[in-house]
Amino acid sequence: MSQPTALITGAARGIGLATARLFLAEGWRVALVDRDVPELAVAEAELADPAARTFACDVSDEAQVAQMMDEVANWAGRLDALVNNAGVADFGPIEDTGFQRWRRVMQTNLDGVFLVSQAAIPLLKRQGGAICNIASISGLRGSTLRVAYGTSKAAVMQLTRQQAVELGEHGIRANCVAPGPVRTKLAMAVHSPEIIAAYHDAIPLNRYGSEAEIGEVILFLCSRKASYVTGQTVAVDGGFEASGVGLP
Ligand code: NAD
Repeated sequence: MSQPTALITGAARGIGLATARLFLAEGWRVALVDRDVPELAVAEAELADPAARTFACDVSDEAQVAQMMDEVANWAGRLDALVNNAGVADFGPIEDTGFQRWRRVMQTNLDGVFLVSQAAIPLLKRQGGAICNIASISGLRGSTLRVAYGTSKAAVMQLTRQQAVELGEHGIRANCVAPGPVRTKLAMAVHSPEIIAAYHDAIPLNRYGSEAEIGEVILFLCSRKASYVTGQTVAVDGGFEASGVGLP
């Protein structure tokens, strides 16, 4: 049997790249998809692994997604796991969030998950597989700053339930990971010193998570070990969700 293959979007850096490393270490072949071509080249050189291949694609562009999926199919011949991880953040209240800013967040965080999943389904159906969508604890609570980001992530949780119910009969599971804060480029662009301090207080484990701590749960949900888990959102957040406090 040929090697199981995972497709990870937003894999040029951050949580996506850390997750790619974990899949590779477990013997998977990994298609790393990102729109940031220079960062993808750096990631590919760092990985230096024949089981890893990079694909340039903006997940919010339907034509690019279709072409990318063809290229992945030609390279790997199969798809066993799809990790919809590409995301952008933009913090602001509703009155300050212009429509362009709203659309920019929705296009990647929600439209991108829809488009890549839709394009991947024919490949996943061949032998069954798993989808893992990356949302955020920002989609679990209301806040004064996350009208676009939080709304996009809440929608991803619902899209996950839709996928689980619709695709179960094809042997395709769909789950969602809702990470707490991780010190990536995305988070550090929107987390002020006040937000960072407040997160440390609000999170029972009193710290940010690491990229690999998120990736381990993504890998588990995509593996056979999670063969009876579908339609779930798992918060990987140091206990933030359990604590019931508001988002800083
Ligand atoms: P990151 O900025 O380090 O990585 C995101 C990657 O996605 C980048 O490589 C970027 O080029 C890529 N990307 C963005 N838009 C794209 C598009 N339209 N098409 C293709 N690629 C695109 O950020 P990260 O923190 O690793 O984020 C990964 C995911 O985790 C995101 O969905 C984010 O919302 C989610 N998340 C992050 C945190 C956190 O604190 N870092 C918390 C909760 C959820």
